[in-house]
Amino acid sequence: INPVEKKLIYMHELATELYSHILMNTEVGQPALDYLHERGLTDETIKFYRLGFAPKEQILNKFLENKKVQYDDMRKSGLFIETDDGKLRDRFFDRIMFPIKNEFGNLIGFSGRVMDKNASTAKYLNSPETDIFNKRKVLFNLSDAKTTIQKQKNVILFEGFMDVISAYQSGVTNGIASMGTSLTTEQIATIKRLTPSVSVCYDGDAPGQNAINRALSLLGNTDLSLGVIQMPEGIDPDEYRKQYGEEKFASYMHSAYESPLSFKMRYFKLNRNLDNETDQISYINDVLQEVAKISDPLERDIYVNQLSDQFNLNKLDLTNRMNTYIQKNN
Ligand code: ATP
Ligand code: MN
Ligand code: MN
Ligand code: MN
Repeated sequence: INPVEKKLIYMHELATELYSHILMNTEVGQPALDYLHERGLTDETIKFYRLGFAPKEQILNKFLENKKVQYDDMRKSGLFIETDDGKLRDRFFDRIMFPIKNEFGNLIGFSGRVMDKNASTAKYLNSPETDIFNKRKVLFNLSDAKTTIQKQKNVILFEGFMDVISAYQSGVTNGIASMGTSLTTEQIATIKRLTPSVSVCYDGDAPGQNAINRALSLLGNTDLSLGVIQMPEGIDPDEYRKQYGEEKFASYMHSAYESPLSFKMRYFKLNRNLDNETDQISYINDVLQEVAKISDPLERDIYVNQLSDQFNLNKLDLTNRMNTYIQKNN
């Protein structure tokens, strides 16, 4: 780490302490603390993740000045927005603060969540790109999950911070999340260094299902072994924990395992009516394209048989169609 990076990390350390103090020990932070308790987080969890609260008032600028932090370093930190006349205004205010660490546990950024459901601003606001914060590289919780990931030879990929935190509180400590974006090649490379297998556990809503499909395609280009932990329709992992409790959450994470192909066969049915011939054909083509990617001929045969039975189609026709897809892949 170079001296500039060190200073930026130090500023994030100070800001994390400040926001955490406000959340845990002040009147201003009380509604935010109530909110987190209401969502079912314990003080132990809140402290472990060093969650905090950035109040409406401007406070960080003064606080860092008093700690002798230079204007130029503040500018570079991403913690402020520069006004036209060169003043620095706190970027985060009236938000619950989720500190973000790099792989080595250094604090490098924040994501701030509004409490008000009806707020007109984005639900989550992230730090901008800085010398230390690169959204393409960051995986939330990686520094803390690393040991478990290596020991269990598996990582669970969640959509959101709250899902990862819920998992942690339920004793599932190999969870990570990207910063609300689809996976990058940098993140995949990091994952590959640590584990041979990935479980994708995204939200049980339509965006979540689309995101699983995208993640499986991206991860499918590697030799990682993949699985899907499918959430019940309409809820995300954090809501699952809230509804069913931590024990059920943990056992769900260990039991609700689906192969990528089985996920895709379900996914391809969404928004299609399989009683309609046009939809049937596009569905069968989609499935055959996936089956064509399987290297074991026997396994391919099993799925072709299933399709043949399901739609009462000639097996040879299906096999021929699949073979054209195999040729295209090579
Ligand atoms: P919560 O449980 O706190 O409502 P969530 O994690 O369920 O949040 P989703 O809407 O499922 O929220 O989004 C998943 C993730 O995408 C979030 O955790 C966050 O990282 C990111 N995200 C969501 N909305 C935004 C946004 N408006 N701007 C930036 N990132 C966002
Ligand atoms: Mn979602
Ligand atoms: Mn969600
Ligand atoms: Mn959620």
